[in-house]
Amino acid sequence: MASPTVAEPQPHAVLVPFPMQGHITPFLRLATLLLARGFHVTFVLTEYNARRMERARGHRWDAAAIPSFRVETIPDGLPEPPPDQRDETQDVLALCSSVRYTCLAPFRDLMAHLGRAPHTPPVTSIVSDSGMGFTVDEDFGVPVFFFVTHSACGCWSYLQFPDLVARGYTPLKDASWLSNGYLDTPIDWIPGLENLRLRDFPSFVRTTDPADVLLNLNVRRAIVDVARSAGLIFNTFAALEDPVLAAIRSKYPNLYAIGPLASSSVSSSLWKEDAECLRWLDAQPSASVLYVNFGSITVVTTSQLAEFACGLERSGHRFLWAVRPDLMRDGGAAAIVGELAAKVGDRGSVVGWCDQRRVLAHPATAAFLSHCGWNSTLESVVEGRPMICWPFFAEQHTNCRFLCTTWRIGVEISGEVTREAVERSVREVMEDEDLRRRAAEWKRKAREAVGPDGSSTADLDRLVVDLKPTTKKRPLS
Ligand code: UDP
Repeated sequence: MASPTVAEPQPHAVLVPFPMQGHITPFLRLATLLLARGFHVTFVLTEYNARRMERARGHRWDAAAIPSFRVETIPDGLPEPPPDQRDETQDVLALCSSVRYTCLAPFRDLMAHLGRAPHTPPVTSIVSDSGMGFTVDEDFGVPVFFFVTHSACGCWSYLQFPDLVARGYTPLKDASWLSNGYLDTPIDWIPGLENLRLRDFPSFVRTTDPADVLLNLNVRRAIVDVARSAGLIFNTFAALEDPVLAAIRSKYPNLYAIGPLASSSVSSSLWKEDAECLRWLDAQPSASVLYVNFGSITVVTTSQLAEFACGLERSGHRFLWAVRPDLMRDGGAAAIVGELAAKVGDRGSVVGWCDQRRVLAHPATAAFLSHCGWNSTLESVVEGRPMICWPFFAEQHTNCRFLCTTWRIGVEISGEVTREAVERSVREVMEDEDLRRRAAEWKRKAREAVGPDGSSTADLDRLVVDLKPTTKKRPLS
């Protein structure tokens, strides 16, 4: 006699992104995949970002809009900004330290509330940003997986911080070491990172202060937090970062490379998107436009903005430039951009914030001038667009190095930006057939990875099983 089938309880994952755009976006993409696999998802935003997202979307979070998807909020521990700064990117340093040391208590309350909430299946796993390490400070009775939203090469570089400190490479002896060639020191003994120099490591090594907050947070994360997690999830794919993934796996075997994650069913924008630029692109010839965007955090100086503007003008190529309202701190961007618009006429278009994936996918877009944030990098790879790399901070330097020397689809603007360097690199990226050919090849491999027999699909299947309630709790090392 066949035994009666017992319905599996619905798995419930609590997703905890770091409160910045480049983290919320991939987390929402992961949420979409988990919802499609039958999960109940609780998505944890900070109160500040939840309000921003509601303003950008033009309406409040509707609890019933997507079945099994709930947004919950916790405070980020920072003081409320004045009304005219409520849509500005928060200070990264202050935010990193504030969430690490103040969010545990409200998160504990939230977990208790979820345990009592009616019509809510019991929580079966936590998927936490590796930047939200408070989630492993306490045992919540379910496994905590870390979703590392940056590249595997970036993560592996961060994991070397304790060793770089122990060997005396960082902190730097004094500020002159920033410019005396010391940063060019090869760091060539780390498997998977053989081609790096000290300058290619995340920018937090460029400090002279042994008490530097970000240096120390990263050392602590590498030594304590990661080892407490049950597994590491990456938004990358095996073909792109295999040697690095293998090196990480040798230390932390439970690893999932599930990228590139596709668009989510919920808009994750913290800014209102400009749709006009897509119509402008519709009117441009195929593969003729350079797209310029420095992401959600980068802040430029007046002189940097002016050099970019001048270089774009001199290149003679068409461009679409997203100048975020807070890209420059003193609000002087409008004059520089206005002057540029007057000079180039319809050859260029400037917007505030756009739907980047749609811009990169547009047939008129040829290449991308970027700060090399990981989402931007991967989105460019997915659409087969070569890049001009102008890394700003953190592991963007590592991504830039891999783009230019390993994947060979990037051209770097190094050092202080000049109009000549911008002009030269725009011409190169728009005109070099080899760059385009290699970018098209990576596009094919990226799509293959998430196809039916792809490496990322297999890793996602494995992750979905491991996030379900039957999974035993397993520390990572
Ligand atoms: N983005 C966007 N529109 C913009 C600028 C950025 O949609 O005008 C999105 C972009 O698609 C990416 C994210 O914001 O998913 C930026 O993340 P990234 O890791 O590239 O950089 P960060 O903002 O963290 O420096």
